Amino acid sequence: MSNKTPREKMMSIISQFVGYTAIRLPDDVIAKLSELREKETSPMTKVIYDTMFRNQELAQKLGRPSCQDTGCLQFWVKCGTHFPLIDELEALLKDAVVDATFATPLRHNSVETFDEYNTGKNVGKGTPTVFWDIVPNSDTCEVYTYMAGGGCSLPGNATVLMPGEGYEGVTKFVLDRMTSYGLNACPPLLVGVGVATSVETAALLSKKALMRPIGSHNENERAAKMERLLEDGINAIGLGPQGMGGNYSVMGVNIENTARHPSVIGVAVNVGCWSHRRGHIVFQKDLSFEVTTHSGFVYDENKAPAIIPA
Ligand code: SF4
Repeated sequence: MSNKTPREKMMSIISQFVGYTAIRLPDDVIAKLSELREKETSPMTKVIYDTMFRNQELAQKLGRPSCQDTGCLQFWVKCGTHFPLIDELEALLKDAVVDATFATPLRHNSVETFDEYNTGKNVGKGTPTVFWDIVPNSDTCEVYTYMAGGGCSLPGNATVLMPGEGYEGVTKFVLDRMTSYGLNACPPLLVGVGVATSVETAALLSKKALMRPIGSHNENERAAKMERLLEDGINAIGLGPQGMGGNYSVMGVNIENTARHPSVIGVAVNVGCWSHRRGHIVFQKDLSFEVTTHSGFVYDENKAPAIIPA
């Protein structure tokens, strides 16, 4: 019987969940990779997809991360103002990352900028990154976890277009990034696009777009149409799995948008790789929880915290 405090319990659940997402991909990603494997026709693409699935099998069997780059940890929290641990959430998430780093283990990916040393614990100044959405009058807390790998972060870019460049300008911007950097990000990719006013609003939306399930669409019909057109356009580049050529380059294109200043179009693109390690867990105020992304996650209440080097 565990006698953890609520803070320790939530920390431990998040740590175990983060570790689990390093080893097993989300259900929707696995389903999409299976679908693309079936749809591809060349022997090389089949071999690459088979290798990905073999990799997944071994990761689970051996309890090791499915990709050596377990990324910089990022969290997107949608936290109710009445959630009991709201004041402790950022510190608790940081502790969870350190714990998961040694328990899983995860690669050490947090280097202090300018001082150029690796903290060895996956935390540092401002990392893990925590993006906040505050939800008034709610006592639940949704946590999206994300491992931002180096290769899949590389195509990320944001700019502000002249208004006359229109949606054609948005399309050109996204396709230019895909043709120049898409290859580096281990396709098939999930492409997140943000459309807003300025670079930071568009950039945040492009990351938020990567949290959406594969196969979901923007609620605006025109935006949803653009998602499908961009998907067709990026597929036509022919990157294929791991950039070795094929009929399908993407798992999907997700666009998120807000209203914007009429004189500009802020646009950003962000990419998730085939190993798109995002998780979603929803806590109630009593810390009962539901995981929506991974059907197999089981929390081990009695697991001791990792031994963390001083
Ligand atoms: S792009 Fe993704 S799959 Fe490729 S090395 Fe980076 S994290 Fe791993």
